[in-house]
Amino acid sequence: MTERLYYNDSFLYDFRASILDVQELKREGTQSTWAVKLDRTAFYPTSGGQPFDIGRLTTQSKSGVPLEVAVEDVFEDDDGGVWHRVSKVLPPGAEVRGLIDAERRRDHMQQHTGQHLLSAAFVQLLNAKTVSFHLGEEISTIDIDLPAVSRDDLMRVERLSNEIIAEDRPISIRYVTREEAAQIGVRKLPERTGQIRLIDIKDFDLNACGGTHARTSGQIGGLLIRRAEKVKQGARIEFVCGLRAVSAARRDFEILGEASALYPCAPSDLPANISKQREDARAVQKREARVLEELADLKAAQLIHETPSERGPKIIVQVFQDRDAPFIKLLAQKLTKSTSGVIALLGSAQSPPALVFARSSDLSADMGSLLRELVTAAGGRGGGGKDFAQGGIPDKERLQQLLMEAKDRVA
Ligand SMILES: [Zn+2]
Repeated sequence: MTERLYYNDSFLYDFRASILDVQELKREGTQSTWAVKLDRTAFYPTSGGQPFDIGRLTTQSKSGVPLEVAVEDVFEDDDGGVWHRVSKVLPPGAEVRGLIDAERRRDHMQQHTGQHLLSAAFVQLLNAKTVSFHLGEEISTIDIDLPAVSRDDLMRVERLSNEIIAEDRPISIRYVTREEAAQIGVRKLPERTGQIRLIDIKDFDLNACGGTHARTSGQIGGLLIRRAEKVKQGARIEFVCGLRAVSAARRDFEILGEASALYPCAPSDLPANISKQREDARAVQKREARVLEELADLKAAQLIHETPSERGPKIIVQVFQDRDAPFIKLLAQKLTKSTSGVIALLGSAQSPPALVFARSSDLSADMGSLLRELVTAAGGRGGGGKDFAQGGIPDKERLQQLLMEAKDRVA
């Protein structure tokens, strides 16, 4: 078993130990990854929702050459041994000095101790139990056994947590038996037997935990609930503590600043400005639809007038460079819906190139099968009914030729 130095001092960042065992984890070409088991360690191994510490191990080779390796992962085995993943082999039996990345450890302590506080506040105010905890790279979450939490309740829980932080209550560690823990009444009694480590936030929360914690609630620095969402087992609460809360607030404020500079307006005027702009955009869209409808009417009348009327149907063939697919569809409907004896073979050269074949209801040519056959041959896709069909081809240069071929086929 490895002695866990962080059990009694979460602020121990520099320690000495001996190497009990070294194992090769994997080998890729000439590059190996090694795991080093120490007799004692201040490195926290991933467990209980809290990720591992990183840092360095330094020692000397048998010939006295200084060796230093980065600790890239820390994990525990079933027998209580703690293993440190490194990319260089270290000599078994050697004395090492371990150096913990203090910034990452402090961040983890702030998030993790904040979680104890948050879970206790949910029990006190809403009688909601925490069923799981995850400490992520940017945000942390707890899942609580409530189907939904109102905004007001979230604010009350956040407020209480921050009051306890502001009171800077001592956080102490003690060891009890399972029976004692059950008697005292801890928030969540663990399954396992034997000695139990209790984390006591004075007069607020008592819980069994093997993680690294702040010494006082004040060291959590502050707690910000970001949002709540529904999950299978209840509600997932996203939160950040300490310096992460400051970074999150800073990021949010910068985004707000960028958005309000675009208008420009004060950040507090953004919601009103955005809804006004959305209303304006809807009005413009409606006006544009009306204008396009009128334009299609006029264009249809012009095309029917300009196309010579001989015996047989009027076949109108045109490729539009500056009109999109919705417009040529609209125009094809205008040309064929209320006029008899018209076939419209229209193309749009905009990206992606599109075409529409349509005919008046008094004619019998099958637009759907004709269009499908021609666009498939041109490497495109499309289809439709007997009187109206639409599709697209990859190359706009072939539109005119394809429409002329369609004209020959229906003529
Ligand atoms: Zn804990």
